[in-house]
Amino acid sequence: MTTKKVQKVPTSIIQIDDVPDNPLRAIAREVTEDEYNSPYLSEVLKNMHKALAREKDGVALAAPQIGVSLRIFVVSPNAYPETAKSKPLVFINPKIIKASKKTAVMQEGCLSVRWIYGKTKRVISATIESYDENGKKFTYGASGLIAHIFQHEIDHLDGILFVDHGFDLEEFTEEEVRNAAK
Ligand SMILES: [Zn+2]
Repeated sequence: MTTKKVQKVPTSIIQIDDVPDNPLRAIAREVTEDEYNSPYLSEVLKNMHKALAREKDGVALAAPQIGVSLRIFVVSPNAYPETAKSKPLVFINPKIIKASKKTAVMQEGCLSVRWIYGKTKRVISATIESYDENGKKFTYGASGLIAHIFQHEIDHLDGILFVDHGFDLEEFTEEEVRNAAK
C-alpha cells in the first residue's frame, strides 16, 4: 500500500514582481467539498500561518501570497487583541454578503508589496460569509480594522492589490520601516 503524497506547499511570501504568471494576479479558485479536512488543506493552512507569523507587522495573509491559488485567507491573532482565542482565524471561500455604505480612508500596506504604503477607501463595516477548515459555514460581522482586512484579503483572491486603487503611495526602505516600528 502506498500513502498518497501530499502536494508540496511553499512557505515563503511572494512579492508583486517575483515570478511570471504571478499567482498574486490570478483569480483564485474555491476550495472544493472534498478538500476540507484533507492533508493538503491542512498543509496549506499550516504554511500560511507559518509565513504570516514570521512577519512582525503582518495581520493577515491570503493563500495566493504563498503561491497557492485558493480562496483562503488567515488572520493573525495580533489583529484580535484580547479575544483572539474566540475568533475565527481561517476564512475559506469567503464572500462579503453585507457592507456599509459609509466608507473611510485608511493607511494600508501589504506583505507582498514591500515596502510601499498608501491610503485606500474601504467600507467601514462588512459581514462575511465563510467556511472554516472543517467546511462549517459561519458568518462574521466586523467593523474597523477587521472589516478593512476582509476587503484587502478578498481583493487578493481576485488578483487585486491595494496599490491598484490606493493613493498617496509612498515607498520606504526596509530599514526606515523597521526603525519607525521601534
Ligand atoms: Zn496584502
